[in-house]
Amino acid sequence: MDVFLTVDVEIWCRGWTDLDSKFPDAFRRYIYGPTDRGDFGLPYQMRVLDEHGLKGVFFIEPLFSLRFGQTALDEIVGLVREGGHEVQLHLHTEWADEAHHPVLPGLTTKRQHLRYFSRDDQVTLIEKGLELMQRAGISDINAFRAGSFAFNRDTLLALAQIGIPFDSSYNAAMFGPDSGVMPGLCLVEPMDCDDVHEYPMTVYRDGTATLRHAQLTACSFAEMQGLLWQALEQGRRSFVILSHGFELLNLQKDRPDPVVVDRFNRLCAFLGRNRDSFQVRGFKGLVPKLVSDQPGPLQSPMYRTATRVLSQAYRRRFG
Ligand SMILES: [Zn+2]
Repeated sequence: MDVFLTVDVEIWCRGWTDLDSKFPDAFRRYIYGPTDRGDFGLPYQMRVLDEHGLKGVFFIEPLFSLRFGQTALDEIVGLVREGGHEVQLHLHTEWADEAHHPVLPGLTTKRQHLRYFSRDDQVTLIEKGLELMQRAGISDINAFRAGSFAFNRDTLLALAQIGIPFDSSYNAAMFGPDSGVMPGLCLVEPMDCDDVHEYPMTVYRDGTATLRHAQLTACSFAEMQGLLWQALEQGRRSFVILSHGFELLNLQKDRPDPVVVDRFNRLCAFLGRNRDSFQVRGFKGLVPKLVSDQPGPLQSPMYRTATRVLSQAYRRRFG
């Protein structure tokens, strides 16, 4: 089974005021993650991946650089490329109206989600993202993920028009079901949609009514491991895991979150040990393994949910 360890890389400045003065500190925290116990940002994550012989997929958000300059984007892209991991495109349209030169004529207010834009405007925004990545030295992007998974059918039509063959924006726990993509179907496995190979986020039911996605901070190691084995037993084609460049830090981004750091290390060790079963890979050179029928979300037993909820309460109190 193909496993995609995806890391969305983006920078936020706590609100939208005093951006330029806040940016340098935000950049350090979101990219390098310095704390008094060491750095836990991208270089640390790549080091752990390397220790276990794993390749990560880093979906990098470039639109922020229209405000703060190309050098910052070059630095992020350089880190990941020199680290030997895969660079792909992520887009947060929150940055579009903060650009010094407007990306879209007349765009003066903030529009949080890509799905709020017309298909033509989505083409313009995605092409701008590609252009910025190209300036940073990456010209072979073949996969895309919309910020906050907030895509719609127009996004896939835009990707098809531009020629990006893979998308990983469909999240059945978020905007997937009302995206207009494959109406009536809940996508949990790779499928061709509008001439794009859609690799949806892996989602599962945890014994409650909620559908959850397989994210490092939201899913204990025991749950993740159980879900991986279950997906393998069921003969699933792919398993898409979400993390972020800042995922190993606490909310204030000034300390590591020891529970998540431990989880990340255990997950990488597990995947490294079980490489016969789980092929951790990227989208470059990927021959899509598609399904014709969607099997439905994975199931994680209730006792694992209870254990996770307890450990999260512990993190909130002592983390
Ligand atoms: Zn994002």
